[in-house]
Amino acid sequence: MRQTIIAGNWKMNSSKEVVNTLVMGILSGMADVKSKVIVCAPFPYLSQAEALATHSQLQIGAQDLNVNASGAFTGEVSAEMIKDFGVTHVIVGHSERRSLYGETDEIVAEKVQVALDNDLTPLFCIGEQLEERESGKTEAVVSRQVNAVINRVGIEAFKNIIVAYEPVWAIGTGVTATPQQAQDTHAFIRRLLADHDSDIAQSTPILYGGSMSPVNAEELMGCEDIDGGLIGGASLKAEDFLHICKAG
Ligand code: PEP
Repeated sequence: MRQTIIAGNWKMNSSKEVVNTLVMGILSGMADVKSKVIVCAPFPYLSQAEALATHSQLQIGAQDLNVNASGAFTGEVSAEMIKDFGVTHVIVGHSERRSLYGETDEIVAEKVQVALDNDLTPLFCIGEQLEERESGKTEAVVSRQVNAVINRVGIEAFKNIIVAYEPVWAIGTGVTATPQQAQDTHAFIRRLLADHDSDIAQSTPILYGGSMSPVNAEELMGCEDIDGGLIGGASLKAEDFLHICKAG
């Protein structure tokens, strides 16, 4: 039985005041939440979010890492630094990093490896562009993305990896994959993992991301192979985020 996981991705949003209100708002409604809940804050707010969430069931994640441990990499943040803030999770390979910052499958795979080496759980994002879906390439794209990581870290490592399937055309657009579209791709991803190890395939959490909201969360997470959500826009309002957490 896989535990439901809800992860919020705040992206490049927030302020000290907003972090305070948001985290306190989430914490105030957590008592009856059974899912594992993570919020991924921008780097400058990790410390503040972590301090507010101390002794609660809310876990804190980062949104990216640099593969180097330290050195002359101006503007970058290492896994060691993230760990220093008590962070437990890190988003790796988000479609915005892939498309805006040129992160290839190989770079993403290396980041997954570095996260694991530093005892951080990667939220490993995959997903196809609209034209790839429309030309029937969804399975080929997610296979390529997943295989790059399996080739780098091995299937055993998936015991410590959370996969997030995020169709790029659904991220931030208000257009959600239908439960059937999402379920079909999630089942395909699980079969991909099962080609290597069926037990690991069964235990790996596969989250859905892409305009998940209080309106559609329950139906999406009711699908057999959807184990939770990676939530962008709706994670910026405590009430909406909690609603999704409770639907899980
Ligand atoms: C995301 O950024 O990972 C995401 C799923 O965003 P949204 O929920 O806003 O589509």
